[in-house]
Amino acid sequence: MNIFQTFYDELTGFFGIGGIIKMVQSGDYGSLSTFEGIQHLIAPIIPFLLLIEILRAFFYKRFKIDEYRIPFLVFVINRLISRFISIAAVAFCIGLLEKHAIFTTTFTWYWLIYGYIIWEFSHFVYHALAHKVRILWCLHSTHHAPQQMNLSVNFAHFFLEAPYADVIRTSICILLGVNPALLFFIMFIDGFWGSFIHIGENVIKDGRLGFLNHILLSPSHHRVHHARNPLYMDTNFCNLLNIWDRVFKTYQDERRDIIIEYGITREMDPNSLWDVYFGEFICLGKDIVAAPGLKNKLLYIIMPPGWNHTGDHKTAKITRRSFIEEELTKTVK
Ligand SMILES: [Zn+2]
Ligand SMILES: [Zn+2]
Repeated sequence: MNIFQTFYDELTGFFGIGGIIKMVQSGDYGSLSTFEGIQHLIAPIIPFLLLIEILRAFFYKRFKIDEYRIPFLVFVINRLISRFISIAAVAFCIGLLEKHAIFTTTFTWYWLIYGYIIWEFSHFVYHALAHKVRILWCLHSTHHAPQQMNLSVNFAHFFLEAPYADVIRTSICILLGVNPALLFFIMFIDGFWGSFIHIGENVIKDGRLGFLNHILLSPSHHRVHHARNPLYMDTNFCNLLNIWDRVFKTYQDERRDIIIEYGITREMDPNSLWDVYFGEFICLGKDIVAAPGLKNKLLYIIMPPGWNHTGDHKTAKITRRSFIEEELTKTVK
């Protein structure tokens, strides 16, 4: 294939405009009334917002290449491997589990509401596990390493994360009766919103989105999720509806008096691709080697980050709780 064609394909693929170009070329605008047509219209929104974000940063002379370099490098790695494993994983789970579903749903508005609540639950399970199980945190920490928020953070994911997230989410949804067509539709909405909530302060300063903050998971909620401030750690795991954060008491509003500090708590070099991608694995490896006995070594793999075999734990849960208690005693005094 000629190099210009490859470059053109990659570019139209990145901006999600292939579908629109095809539609304009064929003149078949009737497809706009179909799900696929709508998909073609929505797909370019996030890449173009990202472009606006970068251009605005340039305009206000706030553009720092370091804030975008690592997510883009990770994007290139993932572009090559992750996507194919993920699609295969979803197809495999559907094929394996569909016959064991507790009942079957159809593509109607009320089943869409049911499906979305189940999807959010499955997303909550995957995402909470990604923060609470050390080996899974090794995969997820790549997404939390950037020390600023902008749409390129969407691309910062360890290549194995999407496949395992999709296995958990697809399995739960299919077993609980969400039919594949409904599931793909929900995944599409989720993918769009999940990207949008990473929009930077450069474009939308107050991420609360007004009254929507009460009913949806807003960019503000997700900024809180990416923060390392003690009060904000391990909160807001949901994606579009934050019902399950409220149910499991992990809901946290952005407070005007606590300015968000992005990133993870360990000392790291956010501009090193190696540290962003493998840093947590190396830390885990060191802890395993240093731990006495097989049981402790295994526990390091499955216990939450910050767990220590000596009993001197520094987990997010403990850090957050002691912050809240300290604040309470201050107000009581
Ligand atoms: Zn997370
Ligand atoms: Zn995120």
